[in-house]
Amino acid sequence: MSDCIFCKIANKEIPTDLIYEDENVAAFNDLNPQAPVHFLVIPKKHYASLNEIDSSEVLGNIFSAVPKITKKLGIKEYRTVINTGESAGQTVFHIHVHVMAGRKFNWPAG
Ligand code: 5GP
Ligand code: ZN
Repeated sequence: MSDCIFCKIANKEIPTDLIYEDENVAAFNDLNPQAPVHFLVIPKKHYASLNEIDSSEVLGNIFSAVPKITKKLGIKEYRTVINTGESAGQTVFHIHVHVMAGRKFNWPAG
């Protein structure tokens, strides 16, 4: 989508250091980290939110990248989050998984 910031990152229109990339997925550090480690994993194809996902393949692509990245970073414990919709905290409407580590996380999440 032309005015989507995460599409622009995936298409390399906005230069961003990718910490992981494959054919379907890209990952990069969050601009406003909420933990010592905080990166986002996105599909390169635009889906506004989890509500637009109708195949397990997209989620499989995203989530199977997570342990590859955490292994590379030497992380064994982490929080994964998908915010769906404004009231759930979604601010960028291109689906992304937050992966956070390096501190204690409370439950339930705020
Ligand atoms: P959401 O609130 O939609 O679940 O998460 C969006 C996340 O994207 C936020 O944590 C925010 O800090 C991050 N973010 C927004 N714009 C950019 C950007 O241009 N670059 C990067 N690296 N992160 C961004
Ligand atoms: Zn997008």
